[in-house]
Amino acid sequence: MDGSSNCNSDPNPAHIILIPFMAQGHMIPMVDVARLLASSGALVTFITTPVNAARIRPSIDSIENSQRLPVRFVQLPFHSADVGLPAGCENVDLISSPDLFKPFMKALSLFGEQVKLYLTATNPTADCIIFDSMNSWVGAVAESLNIPHIIFHGPSCFYILCAHLLKKHQVLKRIDDDYKLFKVPELPEPVEVMKAQVMSLKDRPEWEKESEEIYKTEKSACGVVMNTFEELEKSSLDKFRKEIGKKVWPIGPLSLANKDLDSKAMRGKASSIDTGLLLSWLDSKAPNSVMFVSFGSLSRNPISQLVQIGQGLESASSSELSFIWVVKEAENSEEVENWLSEFEERTKGMGMVIRGWAPQAMILGHVALGGFMTHCGWNSTFEAIAAGVVMATWPRFGDQFVNERLVVDVLRIGVAVGAKVPIFYVDEMSGEGLVKGEEVRKVVEKVMTIDEEGEERRKRAKELREKARKAMEEGGSSFENLKRVIQFAKGEKKAIGMKL
Ligand code: UDP
Repeated sequence: MDGSSNCNSDPNPAHIILIPFMAQGHMIPMVDVARLLASSGALVTFITTPVNAARIRPSIDSIENSQRLPVRFVQLPFHSADVGLPAGCENVDLISSPDLFKPFMKALSLFGEQVKLYLTATNPTADCIIFDSMNSWVGAVAESLNIPHIIFHGPSCFYILCAHLLKKHQVLKRIDDDYKLFKVPELPEPVEVMKAQVMSLKDRPEWEKESEEIYKTEKSACGVVMNTFEELEKSSLDKFRKEIGKKVWPIGPLSLANKDLDSKAMRGKASSIDTGLLLSWLDSKAPNSVMFVSFGSLSRNPISQLVQIGQGLESASSSELSFIWVVKEAENSEEVENWLSEFEERTKGMGMVIRGWAPQAMILGHVALGGFMTHCGWNSTFEAIAAGVVMATWPRFGDQFVNERLVVDVLRIGVAVGAKVPIFYVDEMSGEGLVKGEEVRKVVEKVMTIDEEGEERRKRAKELREKARKAMEEGGSSFENLKRVIQFAKGEKKAIGMKL
């Protein structure tokens, strides 16, 4: 689906409002949704805050200008200072300490009031709002304006179903031991997890009110849009549809909405490395010889963990095996920088360190890529699946441990690094929870080695890549589902109008 499939000739195009949650893992796929909807002939209004708007402006400009697609971009204020957040703290990746997440969510509900004022004042004829499930306030706003609303769930269906079943059977309340493996009841692809791995914020007593809001809004929504595809998660999707009794439209892999190098390179925010230099470095490497190491936008490694990762990469790398390692701005410090510069000296020619933001979708799509060490955030995981890249899985928190089970046990395209507990359990002093350099080395070598087992893993990954591409092509399952979302939005608005 690119600009060429734009059917703007529709005299009465669907008008769809998008309201993403302000975190990279939620904002990036919603920009892709904007691109896809617009290229299918819908008129899109994308609502966010000034700091987020500045980050994604280049992507939105490229949708509007180069492809001449109709995306209206609306910026509304986010009152960080009113709730005690530093000015400009408008994205979860800018939150410096976990205590600030609660004020952030408060500012988000104030933002909801801004959205309501805006929508009321502009008296929209919108057919539908597609909103991130974290923006639970959208339900009340949409209902007060009689606009149908559809939830966008960012994680895998496997995880969403798992969370749904755990809640339905009240499993976590009944388990005392955080570290005992148990089977998630009714999950079509049975896997074992620990309570410590699947406890999310929603399950904590201090978040009960917010969780209830999210569940209430999920119930009132007309349907669910997901970043997955039918052929990848068929049994989970079928079961989830039965459980919630609503339409569920998988429309991914959303990353494949970015066809040209430029749009891949500018996803999320501007790359911290010159993409031309990066590409020529990758071009100089043999196919399947580079391991990409990156842990998304939120999880942060303490220096003790960074050193272990570095030691593992250094001992695994050779003239045949190279790496690209992303060290986030929030992980960097003078101490880290001193260590890194010596590390770079020792690994010259075999590896590259990117400090800050990497053009991940571009890197994963390069033929030199042989593996991806990932924290199993769903976007990263699914981007690797869409690119046919095998993974070394190192989950940190949230949905990531469940995604790891999907990758390692169900799809069998990954090898677990061996992390058993969420990152916030890592004790820097005792080293408990730390993954040692030796374990990093072993898993890198295992993923990159092309023995019989490695060959099979790669074969499965390549098959999934082909299925993913087909799903997004004209006539493919995700392509058709997107058209159904647009048709549904138009029909639903009419149905509400008739009921009034
Ligand atoms: N990402 C990127 N460059 C980076 C770090 C992350 O492009 O240096 C993108 C990545 O491709 C993915 C998103 O940021 O689209 C991260 O989402 P994910 O769900 O993987 O993890 P989260 O950041 O939410 O933990």
